[in-house]
Amino acid sequence: MAAAISHEQLIALANEFGTPLYVYHADRIQEQYHKLLSAFEGADVRFFYAAKALTNINILRYIKETGCQVDCSSVNEAKLALHAGFAPEHILYTSNNVSFDEICEAQSLGIHINIDSLSNLRKFGQKFGHAYPVGIRLRPNIMAGGNLKISTGHADSKFGIPLENLQEVLELVKETNLFIRTLHIHTGSEIKDVDIFIKGLDVLFDLVPRFPELEVIDLGGGFKVPYQPGEEGTDIPALGKKIKEAFTVFREKTGRHLQVWFEPGKYMVSECGYFITKVNVLKPAVNAVFAGVDSGLNHLIRPMFYGSYHVIENISNPQGAPRVYNVVGNICETDTFAENRTLPEVREGDYLVFLNAGAYCFEMSSHYNSRFKPAEVLVKDGNAKLIRKRDELSDLLRGQME
Ligand SMILES: *Cc1c(COP(=O)(O)O)cnc(C)c1O
Repeated sequence: MAAAISHEQLIALANEFGTPLYVYHADRIQEQYHKLLSAFEGADVRFFYAAKALTNINILRYIKETGCQVDCSSVNEAKLALHAGFAPEHILYTSNNVSFDEICEAQSLGIHINIDSLSNLRKFGQKFGHAYPVGIRLRPNIMAGGNLKISTGHADSKFGIPLENLQEVLELVKETNLFIRTLHIHTGSEIKDVDIFIKGLDVLFDLVPRFPELEVIDLGGGFKVPYQPGEEGTDIPALGKKIKEAFTVFREKTGRHLQVWFEPGKYMVSECGYFITKVNVLKPAVNAVFAGVDSGLNHLIRPMFYGSYHVIENISNPQGAPRVYNVVGNICETDTFAENRTLPEVREGDYLVFLNAGAYCFEMSSHYNSRFKPAEVLVKDGNAKLIRKRDELSDLLRGQME
């Protein structure tokens, strides 16, 4: 495993670039990708990094260098991917509830498209007929994922075309002569249970006979990585083994060879990220002490948005006596990062680091309270490079008409 970035290095980076600061460890990203490749060795598989987890152009370029492809949630992400140098055929666009205009724009870029509504599928068929192969995002009615907010494949989810609409899909495919190349599902995030993927795969395998031109089964992303101490992520080698077996059996039974695609986001970049904050003030709380840091839900909203847990380390005083803290932000909202968290004694001025801060962290940041977004640094082969400068006042005024 790539050695983690040491406390000393993190402190040096915080001193050099200031806080709050996002630090990403490139070697760790490559390592994750290689774990996927080795688990799926021998399979006809493609991985598309779900760019929405972290879109800094330097990260996208690095991911491209590793050989991984890219999955986009918006046409703008697709344009960023092109800007980063990805070839159109290595870009996948899996949208939800977008306008038909945006889908046409994606089509004009020459990228792979998964469509997630009957109405857009119909319009696509009417406009492009058989000329442009396309994927269908289905809602498989499977409950999966770390919590309801990050579950996307269940029967009450807004994502995908419900399986119940299969007949309508088949009719309009016939009517408009659509070329259905891909069947896609993405059932949620933080799916630990390997069998959930197999269950989804079985749903899609059952549909294959209805789509004679099908070439690809796209099982989406959602691999779990450990966030809490002692937690385990998705068993990727076991997943690789089971998926390979399932495809082999399917080919032997039906004579049809299909490629399998995945769209990992968190798995690729969660663990590469460190978010360094500085403690501004300490205050008494009822059963703990508030440690108020120089950040808040404007920079890292996952704990407040869906109760996510991030390990926090006091890198300035790692040997301090353990005490209990509520780690909170400086935004005029109740922005609690962690409650009743035992940390080595925290002093004003200490650096607190949040782990697993690569995926959906900077990416969900905002200018709320007119605070600046943090700087971002990429560490590669031991060298640190500033990949986004800290905001300044002009960034808050940009676009406003005076
Ligand atoms: C967000 C998303 C992913 C990535 O999910 P992770 O949990 O980060 O792996 C993959 N595919 C689609 C369609 C998504 O929306």
